[in-house]
Amino acid sequence: MPQVHSGKGPEVVPRLGKNTLENIVSLGELCPWGDCFARLGADTPAALHEALLEGVNYGFISVDLEGRIAFFNRAAQAMLGYSAEEVVGQHSPLLFHEPEEIRQVAERLSQELGRPVDPDMGIFAAREALGRVTEEEYTYIRKDGTRFPVLLSVMALWGGEGEQRQVVGYLGVVADITERRKAEEKLRLSNEVFENSPEAIMITDAENRIVTVNPAFTRITGYDPEDVTGENPRILSSGHHDGSFYQQMWQSLGSEGVWQGEIWDRRKNGEVYPKWATINVLRDRRSNQVSHYLAMFSDISERKRAEETINFLAHHDPLTNLPNRFTLQARLQQALSDARRHETQVAVMFIDLDRFKVINDTLGHHVGDLLLIEVAKRISAAVRDTDTVARLGGDEFVVVLSGVTRAADAMQVAMKINRLVAKPFWVADQELHTEASIGISLFPADGDDVDALMKNADTAMYYAKAQGRGNFQFYAAEMNQSAVERLTLENRLRQALAKNEFELYYQPQVSLASGRIIGFEALIRWNHAEQGMISPGVFIPMAEDTGLILSIGEWVMRTACTEAQRWQEQGLPPLRVAVNLSVRQFRQKDLPQQVAGALAISGLDPALLELEITESAVMDSPEKAIELLKNFRSMGVSLAVDDFGTGYSSLSYLKLFPINRLKIDRSFVSDIGVDPNDTAISTATIALAHTLGLEVIAEGIENSTQLNYLRAEGCNEGQGYLFNRPMPAEEVLPFVREWENIVVGNPGPAAGTSGGEQRAAGA
Ligand code: C2E
Ligand code: MG
Ligand code: MG
Repeated sequence: MPQVHSGKGPEVVPRLGKNTLENIVSLGELCPWGDCFARLGADTPAALHEALLEGVNYGFISVDLEGRIAFFNRAAQAMLGYSAEEVVGQHSPLLFHEPEEIRQVAERLSQELGRPVDPDMGIFAAREALGRVTEEEYTYIRKDGTRFPVLLSVMALWGGEGEQRQVVGYLGVVADITERRKAEEKLRLSNEVFENSPEAIMITDAENRIVTVNPAFTRITGYDPEDVTGENPRILSSGHHDGSFYQQMWQSLGSEGVWQGEIWDRRKNGEVYPKWATINVLRDRRSNQVSHYLAMFSDISERKRAEETINFLAHHDPLTNLPNRFTLQARLQQALSDARRHETQVAVMFIDLDRFKVINDTLGHHVGDLLLIEVAKRISAAVRDTDTVARLGGDEFVVVLSGVTRAADAMQVAMKINRLVAKPFWVADQELHTEASIGISLFPADGDDVDALMKNADTAMYYAKAQGRGNFQFYAAEMNQSAVERLTLENRLRQALAKNEFELYYQPQVSLASGRIIGFEALIRWNHAEQGMISPGVFIPMAEDTGLILSIGEWVMRTACTEAQRWQEQGLPPLRVAVNLSVRQFRQKDLPQQVAGALAISGLDPALLELEITESAVMDSPEKAIELLKNFRSMGVSLAVDDFGTGYSSLSYLKLFPINRLKIDRSFVSDIGVDPNDTAISTATIALAHTLGLEVIAEGIENSTQLNYLRAEGCNEGQGYLFNRPMPAEEVLPFVREWENIVVGNPGPAAGTSGGEQRAAGA
């Protein structure tokens, strides 16, 4: 740029171009530095001029009155990519202005000035003519065609002396504002984020006074910006946290520059809520002093609630809302350590409901569930709030009593639970009855840890159950001994069939009208090599549990049919044989084939076979049962419902079952004349059976009061010790012969009675 180097001091030259530098420097109003040198009376050194014009980051572009470029400093060259030689003498607008933009500006200026402005030539002039040294943004185009934003200021250049003094050209000072634009854009984006962030943002100054907050802050806290600006964030606090909490927060801000955590604050409306907050320390870039604190937080009350629900579900039984096994173990653990410290005792109670399975199976799970909910309430009502009631699943509950001083404390609670659970429940529009069997273990006597106490309470509960319904039982060491015995017995049971240890006994069934024997019920006996006769009451449930019942049942069916057929072959009158089927056998798929097979192999007339099934077996899935029962009936086999009255029978189904007989359970018969309720049940059952066209047989008749009552009520048949105890197969023939003699020889209603009682005594 030769023009620049030609400077000779401050001298106003009326022509732009060669002497532009001097021209500018001489203009006091525009170039204060020139003025400052002039005032000192000093020459402005050429080098300084150069430094000023060429060293700055602003583009200096001067044009003459026609708009032709006269001067183009180094910064302008760098910005636009043209050398000074390339541009001097060119019209600046044509060279680096956006044509459309410049056209619009010219139009606007024309209007403002009231005269046409030539976009090619007069932009600088027109801008200046408005008399303002304003800055305006333009888009400039580099030599390579790329565009960038600039800020342009225009000023007039004066030349001449006195009267001659006039505008000789214009100077444009151009700043590349690309970076500023970027910064502005960034700022704009930050602002958008600030305004629209779903997280509350609060900025406080170094003294922790609130400087600004965003709309999310207002939404979450309820405070408008004007409520809080200038305040200490303390006004948000709920008093939920103590001094050490905040102390720790400040400590972390001091050492890490950041703090994160959960804070419980209070909304403007007073509501306390949890928020998750992140606080950052902002420091001044130069001095590194804390300038601000930036706090961002979100309302986590919803999430908290969800977490609490999940947490609750993980620790509670969803049906009853009681603590589950997991929580129980934790609470018991806690109770044990407390008890160790205070030298008190802890009682663990295992509670199992009697007859729950029957209710669940016959009335449906829905009813079963409702009953469990009610039972849970009653058990909870029997203990203190500080005690734990948990549900382990099914109908098993556990109660943990802490602070127990004597076993009698636990006993009282157990009795209360027994009493409350025994009261009738009104569930799903029906009255239900159940009872609780409770096993109790005590810490430290019966165990030192959770597992031992639970196991022993469980064992005691089995004993309580065995004692009869609605009982409780304390654990005793001997109980485990018998648990071992049970296991051994189970193992022996597996081998019993192979070892031929089973035998069928037969108990006569008598017509109450004629006194004649009409059949026998086959009852299995286990002749254990060491323990002698074992009652089916002991091993049948065991066989059910293990599945052994299926092969045992098959053996019973075959044996009963074969032996009954032998009596026929020995010339006895047609005698029915009744075979018991357990629930599990009843569900067995090939049961009809099994029965048909036993009949075929033995050659027994199907009319002489009766199957005894329980209420729960048929009521479990009545539709299926009806199919199966029809199948048996079509084979010619008759059917009886055993233990009638102990389960739940739906009368509407009972009508549909193709059965022949109801068997009144022993428990009702035994109370005839003793308990009016049970007497009524027997009477009602007889009436019901007859209404449905069924026969009734009463089991467990032990005395003549029962017999006479039943006969008077019209009960068809009877069975019981009064007639005879179950007997081995080989005794059947002589027994029937002798009975027939007595009855035939001494016919009449009382005949069976006297004969039976003698035999009962001897059986
Ligand atoms: P259940 O079918 O109700 O049989 C009647 C039970 O009452 C028999 O007990 C019988 O000995 C007993 N009993 C009869 N008369 C009297 C009496 O006057 N007083 C008293 N106190 N009891 C009397 P047992 O033989 O011990 O059988 C018990 C249960 O075992 C049976 O009840 C039946 O459910 C089951 N059971 C017996 N044998 C078999 C079998 O072969 N297969 C299956 N699945 N279960 C069997
Ligand atoms: Mg039976
Ligand atoms: Mg029975």
